Amino acid sequence: MDTNINAPSNFIRNIIDEDLASGKHQAIVTRFPPEPNGYLHIGHAKSICLNFGIARDYNGTCHLRFDDTNPEKEETEYIESIMRDVKWLGFDWGPHLYFASDYFEKLYDLAVELIKQGKAYVCELSAEEIRAYRGTLTEPGKDSPYRNRSIEENLDLFERMRKGEFEEGSHVLRAKIDMASPNIVMRDPTLYRIRKVTHHRTGDAWCIYPMYDFTHCLSDAIENITHSICTLEFENNRALYDWILEQVYPEPHPRQIEFARLNLTYTMMSKRKLLQLVNQGIVTGWDDPRMPTLSGLRRRGYTPSAIRDFADRIGVSKANSTVDYAFLEHCLREDLNQTAPRTMGVLRPLKVVIENYPEGQVEYVEGMNNPQDPSAGTRQIPFAREIYIEQEDFMIDPPKKFFRLAPGREVRLRFAYFITCTDVINDDDGNIVEIRATYDPDTKGGSAPDGRKVKATLHWVAAEHSLPAEVRIYDHLFTTEDPDVGEIEDILNPNSLEILTDARVELNLKDAKPEDKFQFERQGYFCVDPDSTTEKLVFNRTVALRDTWSKIKGD
Ligand code: ATP
Ligand code: MG
Repeated sequence: MDTNINAPSNFIRNIIDEDLASGKHQAIVTRFPPEPNGYLHIGHAKSICLNFGIARDYNGTCHLRFDDTNPEKEETEYIESIMRDVKWLGFDWGPHLYFASDYFEKLYDLAVELIKQGKAYVCELSAEEIRAYRGTLTEPGKDSPYRNRSIEENLDLFERMRKGEFEEGSHVLRAKIDMASPNIVMRDPTLYRIRKVTHHRTGDAWCIYPMYDFTHCLSDAIENITHSICTLEFENNRALYDWILEQVYPEPHPRQIEFARLNLTYTMMSKRKLLQLVNQGIVTGWDDPRMPTLSGLRRRGYTPSAIRDFADRIGVSKANSTVDYAFLEHCLREDLNQTAPRTMGVLRPLKVVIENYPEGQVEYVEGMNNPQDPSAGTRQIPFAREIYIEQEDFMIDPPKKFFRLAPGREVRLRFAYFITCTDVINDDDGNIVEIRATYDPDTKGGSAPDGRKVKATLHWVAAEHSLPAEVRIYDHLFTTEDPDVGEIEDILNPNSLEILTDARVELNLKDAKPEDKFQFERQGYFCVDPDSTTEKLVFNRTVALRDTWSKIKGD
């Protein structure tokens, strides 16, 4: 993979450099630890690129670990989609696929160890009482009345919790740390709770499940993770991460390092909210091309290399910020500009009949496949008497700045000829249904021997010698830059999807396969949707050509 040339130095890599220089670690081990309760999104991509990118650049290892401690929310569909998406992004965990649930027995033993040290107890306060006893940022908490049970009693109760003798919510195991700690996380946090729910991997073997804070640090330690990179919300949890390891796990311990999560304008990243979009039918599924999920971006036509480039270029920092969505699109355009073959697609066709062109004749004109990449070669494009141009490229009564086709005006057809509009045909309601034109046979290839100029070049396809297509044009799902504020119903963009059913594309696309990407000249980048059939191609517009981000930055 060629992305490490871009891989920026950052504070995490600086820490790793120091740890290698000091001899603290010989080899670097990171992990990406998704909870399988939804599909991965562009925010996860930042974390994947960071963790797998570090492993790649330091000749280390990156584990894929499913943090599957929440039995009711996890589904096999999510596990499979996560593995597919990480691979699609271009990363490989090799043999290092793990599940936190594989460690349940070991975690249980370590919890028993903590009890034996007098550092954990079974508490019978209700969830509500625990909250009330916890205190606030300004007031210390209160000790639970169960805090000073004997070690024997705690061992007995914890074992009976495991055996299923108690109801959900009646007992929890808590760490015995400090109810007056200024860090609320350290006020006797819950380590285990009772959930009488079948787990997707361990079935009904367990009815107690370890909490995230207990599971995560120990899973990291069990796997010999050296640097456990997570988002800033876990900064306060680091004290607990370290505390648990210090009590029950031999050194060396993994080090937790926090970085700022990715926020993107117009984009929702909470899996809970994305699930809501799916469940309410606001989108067609997790892979709807409007979704910020990796499977949605993939279907939309994003490339793995553009996403990796984006992740490298936004960098890693300790300060929360929001990235402009236009920057993601900018990275995508840079990639597609190099790689996407050019073609012509007419999204809203208007028929043009070239009256001085022989009926029934077809000839071929030569088109460049990619001006950025001469090795992409050329193609032969059929030209005939009846062609389609874009409706918006013609005006009966054009204003001053409109240089495209109009009555009496001459324009160039890309790669083909100059044509002049001679007549306009309307239906009974006055709608334009057809243009009549003449062509100049001496202008083949797009220039006139007498040197006369035209002010516009239009894309086109031959009417008969082209393919019908459906084109789906997308816009942001939300009307506000920060969709985390407000109710989904109030901020939905009613125009986030426009379906054009009468588009026509070049005949050369007849063998195009889902995910194939093209630049439709003047229209943007498009990719073939899996809904495509042999009767009708379906395209998603990935992104329009106009780069609003470069405009802002002036490059
Ligand atoms: P969500 O809030 O969407 O449910 P999560 O953090 O609960 O996200 P996890 O499956 O636990 O989702 O995330 C796996 C990893 O991805 C974690 O290490 C998490 O820090 C990281 N991650 C999640 N969202 C982002 C983001 N927006 N930017 C960077 N990293 C993220
Ligand atoms: Mg999480």
